[in-house]
Amino acid sequence: MTNTRKHSERRVALAFMAHPDDAEMTCAGTLIRLADLGWSIHIATVTAGDCGALSGTPEEVSNVRILEGTKAAELAGGKFHCLKEPDGRTVYDRQALQKSIDLFRDIAPTLVITMPMSDYHADHEITGQLGRAASFVYAAPNASKQPLIPGSGVPYLYYCDGHGGRDRIGQPVEPTTRVDITGQLDQKTEMLACHVSQREWLKHHNGIDEYLSAMRNYGAERGRECGVAAAEVFVQHRGHAYPTDDLLSELFPMSGQTSQPGA
Ligand SMILES: [Zn+2]
Repeated sequence: MTNTRKHSERRVALAFMAHPDDAEMTCAGTLIRLADLGWSIHIATVTAGDCGALSGTPEEVSNVRILEGTKAAELAGGKFHCLKEPDGRTVYDRQALQKSIDLFRDIAPTLVITMPMSDYHADHEITGQLGRAASFVYAAPNASKQPLIPGSGVPYLYYCDGHGGRDRIGQPVEPTTRVDITGQLDQKTEMLACHVSQREWLKHHNGIDEYLSAMRNYGAERGRECGVAAAEVFVQHRGHAYPTDDLLSELFPMSGQTSQPGA
């Protein structure tokens, strides 16, 4: 049975991510397209990414990265939020969950993109669990002391792509949904470029100096699978109580090409 929220007037999208550049790596093109349709855009991170630096105290690194995330979100007309859980040590506990629920309560999203519950980084997996739990319960009156915004309810929920299109043990992600971001790739790159601190850090830690080009090349790789120049892919959560019609595919239909994985 299809569970649809088509008639909801509220158009508020939340990208609920682990680290300040995760949205720009995975789903910013889709957020830009939603903003262009008049959606309100929010990007939230569970951590401030305070381990992603060679020097500086956790507070100093957090401040820099929150500023970078804020600038990036603003390029899509969005607002940035951070729960300030410790980077690299994200856990699923009542405090982290309550902070997540309270944030959802304040934003009242009708579409949520979070991280895969199986991915290379444990912070991403825990973030996916928090996003799934918060999305389910945030509109229950007793779940939070924050006021309940009219129109709150179980939102559309999507998981973004895993790193390199793989899950935690290297198995390929099977997307349910593909979004053409050819026209948004340059703006997505500008958003990613706001994370200046990460280019130096990743060069040192991972030996990669391709922060922007790696994202663009990967978008092109996903695009080739569906006959466009660049794409982002998602897995929709269609479990009990969630809307099961594929809103992103309905809003952004592909131009008729059939998916040709591996092409
Ligand atoms: Zn991350």
